[in-house]
Amino acid sequence: MNNKELERYKRHILLKEIGGSGQKLLKKSNVTVIGAGGLGSVVLFYLAAAGVGNIKIVDNDVVSLSNLQRQILYKDSDQGEKKVIAAKKNLLNLNPTINVDVFEDYFTNKNYYKYIENCDLLIDGTDNFKSKSLICKIAFNKNIPLVYGGLSQWEGQVCIFDPKSDSICFECIFPNDPGEEFDDSCFNFGIIGPTVGVIGSLMAAEVIKLLTSCGAPILNKILTFDCLNGEFQKFEVEKVKSCNICSKINKI
Ligand SMILES: [Zn+2]
Repeated sequence: MNNKELERYKRHILLKEIGGSGQKLLKKSNVTVIGAGGLGSVVLFYLAAAGVGNIKIVDNDVVSLSNLQRQILYKDSDQGEKKVIAAKKNLLNLNPTINVDVFEDYFTNKNYYKYIENCDLLIDGTDNFKSKSLICKIAFNKNIPLVYGGLSQWEGQVCIFDPKSDSICFECIFPNDPGEEFDDSCFNFGIIGPTVGVIGSLMAAEVIKLLTSCGAPILNKILTFDCLNGEFQKFEVEKVKSCNICSKINKI
């Protein structure tokens, strides 16, 4: 690291759990963020600021006026721009020393392999059941740890699915597709902006912890935040022994 980097990351390096060696690990890390909406916005901002060196972003959406209430990566002037293009511009404005590769695409079972090459960690910033389920299947199939976040109105959850440990997966928590209510909660029922910030920040913290091997990941537990009542709770989640994803070799 050069002198500017030492100064930029000084407050990380001062943390004994991270230090200079942890900061170097962040610099050489490769992560893929799928979805650059609310959660993606927050995670990406913190990962770029933290000096995660190689960030891929996959999203095919366009910045709209109703995004700006919570998707803090974007500015009023970004409306009509592809999210990945605006995201890259705004992230490099924050930290020009990192690499940001963007893909104007949907993440599907046909193209995913292009976006997870050399990937140390997957980050789920999507907002629908089918994408979350697919990302989890790919994570287990390709043996890549996954940082999961979910949102609903005033509430959110965060946890880690880690195929390298004896970990639960998304389908252990949500075995059945709950249908449109899950997928359209943001669209139809609204969402409070700061909850997106809380959950996105917790996801970014888990990413930094995993990449630097510090602390204890939220593994086989789920951390929930109820903004309306100002409460955090952490639940143990049992692995479903017959789970198709984490207990068997799955086919995508
Ligand atoms: Zn499972």
